[in-house]
Amino acid sequence: ETLDKGLEKSKNDFFSKLGKAVAGKSKVDDEVLDDLEDVLVSSDVGVGTTVKIINRIEARVAKDKFLGTEELNKILREEIAALLAETNSGEATDFYVPSDKKPYVIMVVGVNGVGKTTTIGKLAYQFKKEGKKVVLGAADTFRAAAIDQLQVWADRVDVPIVKQQMGSDPASVAFDSVQSAVKQGADVVIIDTAGRLHNKVNLMNELTKVKRVMQKVVDNAPHEVLLVLDGSTGQNAFEQAKQFTAATEVTSLAVTKLDGTAKGGVVIGISDQFQIPVKYIGVGEGIEDLQVFNKYEFVDSFFK
Ligand code: GDP
Repeated sequence: ETLDKGLEKSKNDFFSKLGKAVAGKSKVDDEVLDDLEDVLVSSDVGVGTTVKIINRIEARVAKDKFLGTEELNKILREEIAALLAETNSGEATDFYVPSDKKPYVIMVVGVNGVGKTTTIGKLAYQFKKEGKKVVLGAADTFRAAAIDQLQVWADRVDVPIVKQQMGSDPASVAFDSVQSAVKQGADVVIIDTAGRLHNKVNLMNELTKVKRVMQKVVDNAPHEVLLVLDGSTGQNAFEQAKQFTAATEVTSLAVTKLDGTAKGGVVIGISDQFQIPVKYIGVGEGIEDLQVFNKYEFVDSFFK
C-alpha cells in the first residue's frame, strides 16, 4: 500500500483530468484523443511518449470503430503497460544483487538535492536486510555536507563507509572503497558521486576517471550506474537524464519523491525516452520508503 499512497496524488490528478476530458462523451473521437494528449503531457509523461501512446490508442480506435470512453481506461492501461514492458522487465520484486559479481559495484549519479544520499541509505538498508555485506563510498568530495550526510546514513544502517577529506580526489575515494569492499569480502559497494552539472566536460571526465580506477580493482566495475532523478521536478528530470546519459553510460534509474507529487507520469516517459529501466522508486522519506520498481504493480496501482 506504500505504492498506492505514493502514487495517490498523481493518480487523482490524472483521473480527474481524464474524467473532464471524456465527460459527456460516449465514444473516443478526435476531440477525446486531443484532450487525452493534453492530459498525458500535463501529467509529465513527456511529449515523445505521449505521441506514442496516442498513436497506439488511435490504432485501436481505428480497428474497433466505436470504442466507448468507458473502455478508454482499460486500453490506456494496456498500452502503458506494453510501453513500460519495452524497457522494464518488471519481474523483480525484491532488492537483489547478483552473487556472481562480488563485490557488486554500484556507482550512483545525480544532481544535488534529488535524493541521492537518501536513496543510497535506503538501498544499503535493504541489501543489509537481505543478509548482504554492504560498503559505502563517499566519492562526492565536493561538498562537506555530502560526506556528512552519507556518514549519517552509514551510522543509521550500521554499515562501513570509506571517506576522505572534502576536496580530495573522488577517484581515489572510489578506489579505496572498492578495495576495502574486496578486503572485507563485501557483497555490494555503493559509491556516491558529485552532482554538479554546471560543467559537462568536468562531469564526464570525473565519472570516467572514477570508473577507470574502480576497474583496476574489480573487472567491469561499476556493474551498475544508477541515475537518481527527482520525480517531482517533471521536465527537469528529463533534462537531467539527458545530461547524465551524455556524460556516462547510465544503466538504471531511481525516481524519487513520487509521494509528494502529481507528476508520477515521469516514470513512464523517462523510461521510454531513454530506454533505461526504472529500478527503484522513492515514495517517502523513511528508510523503508524505497521500492523495487515493478511495472505490473505500478500500472495496477495507477489504474486501480
Ligand atoms: P541529495 O542531495 O541528492 O543527496 O539529496 P538527499 O538524499 O539529501 O535528499 C534531499 C531531500 O529529499 C531530503 O529531505 C530527503 O528526505 C528527501 N527525499 C529523498 N527521497 C525522497 C522520497 O522518495 N520522498 C520524499 N518525500 N522525500 C524524499
